[in-house]
Amino acid sequence: MAKSFYTLIVVPHASPRLRKLKLPARVLHVLAGVGVLCFFVAVALGFSYIKMAFKAADYDKLQAENTDLKIQKRILEVATVKLGEKISNIENLFQQIQTLVEGDSQKRAKVNVRAVGGSKIDYPTAELLGSANLKDGIDLLRDRTAEMENQLMLFQEVAEKKATIRRSTPTIWPVKGSLTSQYGNRADPFNGEGEIHLGVDIGALFGTQVRAPADGKIIYAQRKAAYGNLIIVDHGNGFTTRLGHLSQFAVKAGQRVRKNDVIGYVGTSGRSTAPHLHYEVRINDRPVNPRNYLPRG
Ligand SMILES: [Zn+2]
Repeated sequence: MAKSFYTLIVVPHASPRLRKLKLPARVLHVLAGVGVLCFFVAVALGFSYIKMAFKAADYDKLQAENTDLKIQKRILEVATVKLGEKISNIENLFQQIQTLVEGDSQKRAKVNVRAVGGSKIDYPTAELLGSANLKDGIDLLRDRTAEMENQLMLFQEVAEKKATIRRSTPTIWPVKGSLTSQYGNRADPFNGEGEIHLGVDIGALFGTQVRAPADGKIIYAQRKAAYGNLIIVDHGNGFTTRLGHLSQFAVKAGQRVRKNDVIGYVGTSGRSTAPHLHYEVRINDRPVNPRNYLPRG
Protein backbone atom coordinates (compact mmCIF):
# COMPACT_ATOMS: atom_id res chain seq x y z
CA MET A 1 0.00 0.00 0.00
CA ALA A 2 1.39 3.38 -1.04
CA LYS A 3 2.30 5.69 1.78
CA SER A 4 -0.06 8.68 1.68
CA PHE A 5 1.01 12.18 2.50
CA TYR A 6 -0.67 15.47 3.14
CA THR A 7 0.97 18.69 2.06
CA LEU A 8 0.21 21.78 4.11
CA ILE A 9 0.74 25.06 2.27
CA VAL A 10 1.48 28.06 4.44
CA VAL A 11 1.05 31.51 2.87
CA PRO A 12 2.85 34.17 4.92
CA HIS A 13 1.43 37.66 4.30
CA ALA A 14 4.73 39.37 4.80
CA SER A 15 6.57 37.26 2.15
CA PRO A 16 5.70 36.32 -1.41
CA ARG A 17 7.08 32.79 -0.93
CA LEU A 18 4.86 29.87 -0.10
CA ARG A 19 5.97 27.31 2.38
CA LYS A 20 5.06 23.67 1.97
CA LEU A 21 4.96 21.15 4.72
CA LYS A 22 4.73 17.53 3.65
CA LEU A 23 3.43 15.28 6.42
CA PRO A 24 2.66 11.56 6.40
CA ALA A 25 -1.09 10.90 6.86
CA ARG A 26 -0.38 8.66 9.88
CA VAL A 27 1.27 11.56 11.71
CA LEU A 28 -1.77 13.72 11.08
CA HIS A 29 -4.09 10.95 12.36
CA VAL A 30 -2.01 10.63 15.52
CA LEU A 31 -2.04 14.41 15.98
CA ALA A 32 -5.82 14.45 15.48
CA GLY A 33 -6.21 11.61 18.05
CA VAL A 34 -4.04 13.45 20.55
CA GLY A 35 -6.09 16.60 19.95
CA VAL A 36 -9.40 14.77 20.67
CA LEU A 37 -7.89 13.12 23.76
CA CYS A 38 -6.65 16.49 25.01
CA PHE A 39 -10.14 17.90 24.50
CA PHE A 40 -11.77 15.16 26.61
CA VAL A 41 -9.11 15.44 29.30
CA ALA A 42 -9.67 19.21 29.38
CA VAL A 43 -13.46 18.72 29.66
CA ALA A 44 -12.99 16.13 32.47
CA LEU A 45 -10.62 18.44 34.32
CA GLY A 46 -13.09 21.28 33.92
CA PHE A 47 -15.90 19.22 35.46
CA SER A 48 -13.63 18.07 38.24
CA TYR A 49 -12.64 21.66 38.96
CA ILE A 50 -16.27 22.80 39.08
CA LYS A 51 -17.09 19.89 41.40
CA MET A 52 -14.17 20.78 43.65
CA ALA A 53 -15.23 24.39 43.67
CA PHE A 54 -18.74 23.38 44.83
CA LYS A 55 -17.26 21.10 47.49
CA ALA A 56 -15.01 23.87 48.71
CA ALA A 57 -18.02 26.18 48.94
CA ASP A 58 -19.90 23.46 50.89
CA TYR A 59 -16.95 23.02 53.21
CA ASP A 60 -16.80 26.74 53.92
CA LYS A 61 -20.52 26.73 54.59
CA LEU A 62 -20.27 23.71 56.92
CA GLN A 63 -17.36 25.30 58.75
CA ALA A 64 -19.39 28.49 59.23
CA GLU A 65 -22.34 26.42 60.46
CA ASN A 66 -20.08 24.48 62.80
CA THR A 67 -18.71 27.70 64.27
CA ASP A 68 -22.26 28.98 64.68
CA LEU A 69 -23.36 25.73 66.35
CA LYS A 70 -20.40 25.90 68.73
CA ILE A 71 -21.45 29.41 69.72
CA GLN A 72 -25.06 28.29 70.14
CA LYS A 73 -23.94 25.35 72.29
CA ARG A 74 -21.88 27.64 74.49
CA ILE A 75 -24.84 30.01 74.86
CA LEU A 76 -27.01 27.03 75.82
CA GLU A 77 -24.42 25.84 78.35
CA VAL A 78 -24.24 29.27 79.94
CA ALA A 79 -28.05 29.53 79.93
CA THR A 80 -28.29 26.08 81.52
CA VAL A 81 -25.88 27.06 84.27
CA LYS A 82 -27.73 30.32 84.90
CA LEU A 83 -31.01 28.42 85.00
CA GLY A 84 -29.43 26.01 87.48
CA GLU A 85 -28.46 28.95 89.69
CA LYS A 86 -31.99 30.35 89.49
CA ILE A 87 -33.40 26.97 90.44
CA SER A 88 -31.00 26.79 93.39
CA ASN A 89 -32.28 30.19 94.55
CA ILE A 90 -35.87 29.01 94.21
CA GLU A 91 -35.01 25.85 96.16
CA ASN A 92 -33.58 28.01 98.95
CA LEU A 93 -36.76 30.08 98.94
CA PHE A 94 -38.78 26.87 99.12
CA GLN A 95 -36.94 25.87 102.26
CA GLN A 96 -37.49 29.29 103.85
CA ILE A 97 -41.19 29.27 102.97
CA GLN A 98 -41.43 25.72 104.24
CA THR A 99 -40.12 26.81 107.63
CA LEU A 100 -42.57 29.73 107.72
CA VAL A 101 -45.68 28.00 106.44
CA GLU A 102 -45.48 24.42 107.58
CA GLY A 103 -47.50 23.58 110.65
CA ASP A 104 -48.25 19.92 110.18
CA SER A 105 -45.19 18.05 111.48
CA GLN A 106 -45.95 14.91 109.46
CA LYS A 107 -46.31 16.98 106.32
CA ARG A 108 -43.16 18.90 107.15
CA ALA A 109 -41.15 15.68 107.45
CA LYS A 110 -42.47 14.62 104.06
CA VAL A 111 -41.54 17.93 102.43
CA ASN A 112 -38.10 17.89 104.09
CA VAL A 113 -37.26 14.54 102.60
CA ARG A 114 -38.18 15.82 99.16
CA ALA A 115 -36.41 19.13 99.71
CA VAL A 116 -33.12 17.37 100.44
CA GLY A 117 -33.53 15.30 97.28
CA GLY A 118 -34.02 18.42 95.22
CA SER A 119 -31.49 20.67 96.89
CA LYS A 120 -28.46 22.16 95.20
CA ILE A 121 -26.25 19.93 97.33
CA ASP A 122 -27.13 17.09 95.01
CA TYR A 123 -26.87 19.12 91.84
CA PRO A 124 -24.09 21.69 92.28
CA THR A 125 -23.73 24.37 89.67
CA ALA A 126 -20.08 23.34 89.21
CA GLU A 127 -21.28 19.98 87.99
CA LEU A 128 -23.34 21.70 85.33
CA LEU A 129 -20.43 23.93 84.40
CA GLY A 130 -18.13 21.00 83.98
CA SER A 131 -20.69 18.88 82.24
CA ALA A 132 -19.48 17.98 78.77
CA ASN A 133 -22.91 16.71 77.90
CA LEU A 134 -25.45 19.46 77.57
CA LYS A 135 -28.25 16.89 77.63
CA ASP A 136 -27.12 15.73 81.11
CA GLY A 137 -27.32 19.30 82.34
CA ILE A 138 -30.80 19.76 80.93
CA ASP A 139 -31.88 16.40 82.39
CA LEU A 140 -30.71 17.57 85.83
CA LEU A 141 -32.70 20.79 85.50
CA ARG A 142 -35.76 18.84 84.41
CA ASP A 143 -35.48 16.53 87.45
CA ARG A 144 -35.06 19.47 89.80
CA THR A 145 -38.05 21.36 88.39
CA ALA A 146 -40.14 18.17 88.62
CA GLU A 147 -39.06 17.94 92.27
CA MET A 148 -40.10 21.53 92.85
CA GLU A 149 -43.46 20.85 91.25
CA ASN A 150 -44.00 18.03 93.74
CA GLN A 151 -43.01 20.30 96.62
CA LEU A 152 -45.35 23.03 95.39
CA MET A 153 -48.23 20.56 95.27
CA LEU A 154 -47.50 19.56 98.88
CA PHE A 155 -47.36 23.25 99.86
CA GLN A 156 -50.67 23.81 98.12
CA GLU A 157 -52.20 20.92 100.03
CA VAL A 158 -50.89 22.26 103.35
CA ALA A 159 -51.91 25.85 102.48
CA GLU A 160 -55.43 24.74 101.55
CA LYS A 161 -55.73 22.83 104.80
CA LYS A 162 -54.48 25.85 106.73
CA ALA A 163 -56.90 28.15 104.88
CA THR A 164 -59.78 25.84 105.72
CA ILE A 165 -58.75 25.75 109.38
CA ARG A 166 -58.38 29.56 109.40
CA ARG A 167 -61.82 30.06 107.88
CA SER A 168 -63.42 27.65 110.32
CA THR A 169 -61.69 28.99 113.45
CA PRO A 170 -63.55 31.76 115.34
CA THR A 171 -61.43 34.88 114.92
CA ILE A 172 -63.82 37.83 114.96
CA TRP A 173 -66.13 39.57 117.44
CA PRO A 174 -69.62 38.22 116.60
CA VAL A 175 -71.09 41.53 117.70
CA LYS A 176 -69.71 45.03 118.08
CA GLY A 177 -69.69 45.84 121.79
CA SER A 178 -67.72 45.56 124.98
CA LEU A 179 -67.18 42.63 127.33
CA THR A 180 -69.56 42.92 130.25
CA SER A 181 -68.87 39.53 131.81
CA GLN A 182 -65.81 37.29 131.62
CA TYR A 183 -65.53 33.52 131.16
CA GLY A 184 -65.16 31.33 134.25
CA ASN A 185 -66.12 31.83 137.89
CA ARG A 186 -68.42 34.74 138.57
CA ALA A 187 -71.29 35.80 140.78
CA ASP A 188 -74.70 34.86 139.40
CA PRO A 189 -76.25 38.13 138.14
CA PHE A 190 -79.65 37.06 139.53
CA ASN A 191 -78.89 35.76 143.02
CA GLY A 192 -75.22 36.72 143.55
CA GLU A 193 -74.18 33.11 144.16
CA GLY A 194 -70.99 31.71 142.65
CA GLU A 195 -71.38 30.11 139.22
CA ILE A 196 -69.26 29.11 136.30
CA HIS A 197 -69.82 31.28 133.22
CA LEU A 198 -69.28 29.08 130.11
CA GLY A 199 -68.79 32.04 127.78
CA VAL A 200 -68.41 35.80 127.70
CA ASP A 201 -71.10 38.44 127.57
CA ILE A 202 -70.79 41.21 125.01
CA GLY A 203 -72.99 44.21 125.74
CA ALA A 204 -74.74 45.73 122.71
CA LEU A 205 -77.92 47.55 121.82
CA PHE A 206 -81.08 45.50 121.30
CA GLY A 207 -81.27 44.47 117.60
CA THR A 208 -77.55 44.82 116.85
CA GLN A 209 -76.44 42.40 114.12
CA VAL A 210 -74.78 39.18 115.31
CA ARG A 211 -72.29 37.66 112.85
CA ALA A 212 -70.93 34.15 112.32
CA PRO A 213 -67.48 34.08 113.99
CA ALA A 214 -66.24 31.57 111.36
CA ASP A 215 -67.40 29.46 108.40
CA GLY A 216 -69.68 26.64 109.48
CA LYS A 217 -73.10 25.06 109.61
CA ILE A 218 -76.00 26.13 111.80
CA ILE A 219 -76.89 23.06 113.84
CA TYR A 220 -79.32 24.75 116.26
CA ALA A 221 -81.46 27.87 115.96
CA GLN A 222 -84.27 27.95 118.49
CA ARG A 223 -85.13 28.70 122.09
CA LYS A 224 -83.15 26.74 124.73
CA ALA A 225 -84.00 27.38 128.40
CA ALA A 226 -81.61 29.90 130.04
CA TYR A 227 -79.86 30.62 126.70
CA GLY A 228 -83.08 32.09 125.34
CA ASN A 229 -82.96 32.21 121.54
CA LEU A 230 -79.77 30.26 120.81
CA ILE A 231 -77.74 29.61 117.71
CA ILE A 232 -75.14 26.84 117.71
CA VAL A 233 -72.70 26.85 114.80
CA ASP A 234 -70.56 23.82 113.94
CA HIS A 235 -67.30 25.07 112.38
CA GLY A 236 -65.67 21.68 111.86
CA ASN A 237 -62.33 20.53 113.35
CA GLY A 238 -64.15 20.13 116.69
CA PHE A 239 -65.09 23.83 116.95
CA THR A 240 -68.61 24.95 117.87
CA THR A 241 -69.82 28.36 119.00
CA ARG A 242 -72.98 29.28 120.92
CA LEU A 243 -74.67 32.65 120.63
CA GLY A 244 -77.52 33.23 123.09
CA HIS A 245 -80.19 35.66 124.32
CA LEU A 246 -80.96 36.66 120.70
CA SER A 247 -84.02 38.73 119.86
CA GLN A 248 -84.32 37.23 116.35
CA PHE A 249 -82.78 34.58 114.11
CA ALA A 250 -81.49 35.38 110.60
CA VAL A 251 -80.70 31.71 109.80
CA LYS A 252 -82.24 28.26 110.15
CA ALA A 253 -80.76 24.97 111.35
CA GLY A 254 -78.96 23.13 108.53
CA GLN A 255 -77.90 26.34 106.79
CA ARG A 256 -74.23 26.86 105.91
CA VAL A 257 -72.74 30.25 106.79
CA ARG A 258 -69.54 32.09 106.01
CA LYS A 259 -67.48 34.02 108.54
CA ASN A 260 -69.07 37.47 109.06
CA ASP A 261 -72.55 36.51 107.76
CA VAL A 262 -75.38 38.02 109.83
CA ILE A 263 -77.02 35.12 111.69
CA GLY A 264 -79.21 36.90 114.26
CA TYR A 265 -79.85 40.01 116.38
CA VAL A 266 -78.97 40.94 119.95
CA GLY A 267 -81.77 40.54 122.48
CA THR A 268 -82.39 39.67 126.10
CA SER A 269 -84.31 36.39 125.78
CA GLY A 270 -83.77 33.60 128.36
CA ARG A 271 -81.97 34.20 131.65
CA SER A 272 -80.82 37.75 130.96
CA THR A 273 -81.04 41.07 132.71
CA ALA A 274 -80.34 43.40 129.73
CA PRO A 275 -79.64 43.16 125.96
CA HIS A 276 -76.30 41.41 125.36
CA LEU A 277 -74.84 38.47 123.49
CA HIS A 278 -73.79 35.38 125.42
CA TYR A 279 -70.92 33.91 123.38
CA GLU A 280 -69.36 30.48 123.91
CA VAL A 281 -66.54 28.76 122.08
CA ARG A 282 -66.32 25.00 122.51
CA ILE A 283 -63.72 22.50 121.35
CA ASN A 284 -65.12 18.98 121.18
CA ASP A 285 -68.04 20.39 123.20
CA ARG A 286 -65.80 21.51 126.08
CA PRO A 287 -66.16 25.26 126.71
CA VAL A 288 -62.94 27.29 126.39
CA ASN A 289 -62.31 30.97 127.06
CA PRO A 290 -63.73 32.86 124.04
CA ARG A 291 -61.36 35.71 124.90
CA ASN A 292 -58.60 33.64 123.23
CA TYR A 293 -60.57 33.77 119.98
CA LEU A 294 -61.48 37.46 120.06
CA PRO A 295 -59.06 39.94 118.53
CA ARG A 296 -57.97 42.67 120.92
CA GLY A 297 -60.08 45.80 120.82
ZN1 LIG B 1 -73.43 34.84 129.46
